[in-house]
Amino acid sequence: MTAGPQRCAGVELGGTKCIAVVAQGRDILAQAQWPTGKDAAATLNAVADWLIAAKAEHGFDALGIASFGPLCLDCHSADFGKILNTPKPGWAGVDVVRALSGQLGVPVCFDTDVAGAALAEGLWGASVGCGVHVYLTIGTGIGGGVVIGGKPLHGAVHPEIGHIRVRRAVGDAFAGSCPVHGDCLEGLASGPAIALRAGRPAETIAPTDPVWDNVAHELAELMQMLILTLSPHRIVLGGGVGYGQSHLLVRVRKAAAEALNAYLPGQTVADLERVIVPAGLGAEAGVFGALALAQSLPQELSEI
Ligand code: ADP
Ligand code: ZN
Repeated sequence: MTAGPQRCAGVELGGTKCIAVVAQGRDILAQAQWPTGKDAAATLNAVADWLIAAKAEHGFDALGIASFGPLCLDCHSADFGKILNTPKPGWAGVDVVRALSGQLGVPVCFDTDVAGAALAEGLWGASVGCGVHVYLTIGTGIGGGVVIGGKPLHGAVHPEIGHIRVRRAVGDAFAGSCPVHGDCLEGLASGPAIALRAGRPAETIAPTDPVWDNVAHELAELMQMLILTLSPHRIVLGGGVGYGQSHLLVRVRKAAAEALNAYLPGQTVADLERVIVPAGLGAEAGVFGALALAQSLPQELSEI
């Protein structure tokens, strides 16, 4: 990746809160935060006003927007910059790029929150030096960003890794909680799914609770799929569940190694300790993700 502009702004648009920053490299110069309210226009107007004021005060050369999705990332489409059919009330069809950057006059890089986090992990975190790497968030939902050769993988839309179906553990009859698919991975192993299985919040469940066996099994299915399809150098786990339950990482590596059965080199438990790792940037992956997107310009250049 060639070096992009150094003084950048970033906006992390999350399901519950929105954070905007101006930074020089990784050094944050200014930061503000808003709830992601149902009134999308009001939320985005507040952020846009802050960005205009921040540009006047600090100056910046590029804006990165890392957003919850699904998103239209095709810059040849009339829908570029919009949030697509999100179930989040008030946000489907909202043109985030135009609302945030229409009056700024700087190039914009727009991508999913997980693609941004993956890029940031590649620049500053656990995936430095990796040609092919994945960032997975296991939190309120499950999502993944894939970076290949320094660029997020988009394809026709963008990956939605959390909604694949995986082989269930024998005897696991939990119906799943995804409103679209029921027992897709997100419906089985996200924070709310785990809470539904156990009857209490995921962060209060002891590591010895059997619920984790099923969760580890299902996440390991995803790991072996990613390893067999993408051959990644690194898979980074973030999000409340992914980052907050270190025992899960150990179980997931073991179950993934068993499923892979050493078919290829690099697939033993000891090997997977280097492949499947916790997020290097922790809870900061979102904000740094937005900055990493800004710094990835001009490759992802899109001026409006
Ligand atoms: P979001 O996905 O909304 O950005 P998080 O990544 O913090 O936010 O995920 C929130 C989900 O993760 C909730 O379902 C919460 O119960 C769960 N969670 C948060 N911290 C932990 C933890 N330490 N252990 C297990 N689950 C956690
Ligand atoms: Zn689903």
